[in-house]
Amino acid sequence: MNAPTSAPAFDHNLYAGCAAQIVSHTRELAAKGWTPATAGNFSIRMSADLAAITISGKDKGRLSEADIMVVDMDNRPVATHHRPSAETALHTHLYRRYPDVGAVLHTHSPTQTIAGLLYAPEGRVRLKGYELFKALRGHTTHEKTFDLPVVPNSQDMDELTASVDAVLSEPNTWGYLIAGHGLYAWGKDISEARRHLDAFEFMLGCELEMRRLRG
Ligand SMILES: [Zn+2]
Repeated sequence: MNAPTSAPAFDHNLYAGCAAQIVSHTRELAAKGWTPATAGNFSIRMSADLAAITISGKDKGRLSEADIMVVDMDNRPVATHHRPSAETALHTHLYRRYPDVGAVLHTHSPTQTIAGLLYAPEGRVRLKGYELFKALRGHTTHEKTFDLPVVPNSQDMDELTASVDAVLSEPNTWGYLIAGHGLYAWGKDISEARRHLDAFEFMLGCELEMRRLRG
């Protein structure tokens, strides 16, 4: 494995474990078609100050552990020659804002991309009555509504981060859509983040289907 080696800035066993988990989930998500044209990025918190994250611009179906880099919470690369993706800032924003968040997954599935565009004017997708709410940590019943925030897309990461920060009022929101772009989902670890990602994808798919059936 071609792990960063220039400085003992972090625990390499911890890094290797995080990298293996990221690669495994990323390959599965790529196989679903949720990371077209190298899109998407995936991270795990290593400590209060560091996260392991996919490097920029790689086919997510063909990642190896050498394609996972370490960044600090100010998006600076740590002990690596790799360049972080611009969207690293959205990952570290969640780690800084929520100390118990341990993993962040970002995908660009067709369902997420379309739902983001369709619901952007409302600034949210209002989900109602889904049994799958119970897949989201802290939610125990289908008898409720759940607003998944939708923010406008931007190539200016400061602007995009500020838009996200403004809509994340609830600690257990677990996700947001970016219009025409994709979904961010997170959790206490990568398994929980994945469960949240899968639950949102399913419910968004149902919403789009219901819209289509209603005509
Ligand atoms: Zn993206």
